[in-house]
Amino acid sequence: MTRILVIEDNPVNQDLIQRFLELHGHEVLVASDGLEGLHRARADRDFIDVVLMDLSIPEIDGWEVARRLKDDPLTASLPLIAVTAHAMIGDREKALEAGCDEYATKPIDFPSLFSKIESLLTKASVNV
Ligand code: MN
Repeated sequence: MTRILVIEDNPVNQDLIQRFLELHGHEVLVASDGLEGLHRARADRDFIDVVLMDLSIPEIDGWEVARRLKDDPLTASLPLIAVTAHAMIGDREKALEAGCDEYATKPIDFPSLFSKIESLLTKASVNV
């Protein structure tokens, strides 16, 4: 079973993402802002397989959360997928530069998101 930490501030998106992931057999933890997400990722790092994070979140934005997670040896290896509605040119690069391993745009294309999750999990298990 895969545990996914979803950091997302919009309740409708939270609900939608959680339902889709749970429907596909994933267990979901939800955090509603960057600070909570960061705390949750640190506290539960041994139980989390993937972090799915909206970049536009209150308290600490997603880019900064990504940097802090990747700068911390305890959480640096957590696979991190950025989700954003800001599909601007250069946004993908900016997210990857901040430390995100993958990037998905809203509205979320779930089949594509699932394959990104799968490929990160495969990579993560190969590295063990
Ligand atoms: Mn948001």
